[in-house]
Order: sequence, then C-alpha cells, then structure tokens
Amino acid sequence: MIVTRFAPSPNGPLHLGHAYSAIVAHEIAKERGGRFLLRIEDIDGVRSRPELAREFRADLAWLGLEWAEVPAQSTRLAAYAAAAERLRAMGLLYPCRCTRLAVRDAATAKGPDGPVYPGTCRGAVFTPDEAVAWRLDVAEALRRTGPLTWFDERAGEQRARPEMHGDVVLVRKEVATPASYHLAVTVDDAADGVTLVTRGMDLFPATHVHRLLQALLGLPVPTWHHHALLLDDGGIKLAKRRGSPSLADRRETGEDGRALADSLRASRFPAGITLGESLSGDS
Ligand SMILES: [Zn+2]
Repeated sequence: MIVTRFAPSPNGPLHLGHAYSAIVAHEIAKERGGRFLLRIEDIDGVRSRPELAREFRADLAWLGLEWAEVPAQSTRLAAYAAAAERLRAMGLLYPCRCTRLAVRDAATAKGPDGPVYPGTCRGAVFTPDEAVAWRLDVAEALRRTGPLTWFDERAGEQRARPEMHGDVVLVRKEVATPASYHLAVTVDDAADGVTLVTRGMDLFPATHVHRLLQALLGLPVPTWHHHALLLDDGGIKLAKRRGSPSLADRRETGEDGRALADSLRASRFPAGITLGESLSGDS
C-alpha cells in the first residue's frame, strides 16, 4: 500500500505553498488507495513553536483533508541518536567545531544549501568537553555503498550524488536539536513506513543524501515525488515573510477551505501565483 506524508515544521504558520504540498500528497494517496500521514517536524530548537501544531491540524481539516498522525520528531530523539551511533561505529562520522561563518570563509565550492564544507576538521584533535557537530564522511560512505540510484516519479531515475553537499552535518552542536534534517527525516520516513516521499522541488537535492543514509543504515528505499512549487510574481517560493497570507488567516476570515483545496487540485491559483519547477536564483 502506498503511504505519503506531509511533514511541516512548527516554526511559522502554514501558507498556500504548504496547502498545495499537503494536497498533492493527500491526492496521490487517495487516488491509489493509500494512506496520508501528518508528521510534525518540531526539533528546530528555539524556532520551534509546538502550539502551532494545533493550528496545522485545524488548517488541514479546514482544507477537507483526512490524515493519520505519526509521532512528532521531538519524541524520536533516541532513534536519531541510535542511527548516528551506528554510523559513528562504522567510522563514518567525524567531529567538527566549525561555526557557520568559518565554513563560509573556508569553502571553495557552493552546494545546493550554500557553501560546501571543505573538510577542515577531518583528522583534527578534539578535547572531550568541546561542543562539536558530527559530519558524515561522504566520500568514504560512498566508497562503502558503491553507486546508488533513486527514483522520482516526475524526474525519473537519478544517480545519487550526495558529494554535491560535501560532508553534511548529521548531529548538530545544539543539544536541543541534536539531529539534522537529513538524519531525522530519513529515520522517520522508514519508521513511518512512507513508501512515496512527497515534497517540493526545493528538497530534490537533499534526496541524494537521504538515499546514501538509507543504504548505510539498511533502511527501505521509498520512491520520491518532488512537486513543483508555488511561486509569487517575483518567481520566489511563497513564504510568510513575503506577505503571503497564512492558512490560519484565511480560515479566520471565513474563506471556504474546501473550495480553496479544489482550486489547488485543479491548479487554479490566486492572482500573481504560479507553479514553477525551480526557484528564482537556482542555477
Ligand atoms: Zn569543522
């Protein structure tokens, strides 16, 4: 049975782009007789506002969607730690003390998420009390797994190229948010039995890392469906900071959520909003 998911982070209200993403995942599950899951990704440290999760459920219900909710990320820290420990025991993680600024200054290449970490701390000596992040030695990991592929329903078969990200952080320095996005979602999608990972095109590059982690951790490999993104009239992904009204705002002004969901299903968007394959500024 097909299982899709919508996995928002409660660090800001949902907007139209989120609604579209949830509807895509919901419709695929419905059409194919599968299940649609909601997972709250609430380990974003101080930016995480757990009370927003209630609003998210109200938003989805207002859109007329039906879902099953799986455990929030904050309840799964032990599973992330166990996955990291397994990779550490395989000799595939190394500690890094670099700040974001230091990475930016040392980087000589740009990856999908910004400057590529050049491996500054690989082989460095650390004192036991030092706050460190743990990075994946991607070249060594790939040497162990051999070539990997993954399949996107829209883009077809892909050769996994995690090296474009450099040695990604899997365990953060911050005690409150120990697992990186890459590690947490990979563990979660396996634990939740997700068979079709539905999310926006902006996360397409991250999938190269997730495929590698699945191979290393012996997790089942889902199929992916990276959907086009709702863009504003400047070609920028919709976000609250750019003035896109939140779903909660729309709900509270008495707008018909089911009608809005029908419009999004039919790719009818409000004035000034289009569906785009890539973000402005992407190369
Ligand atoms: Zn470092």
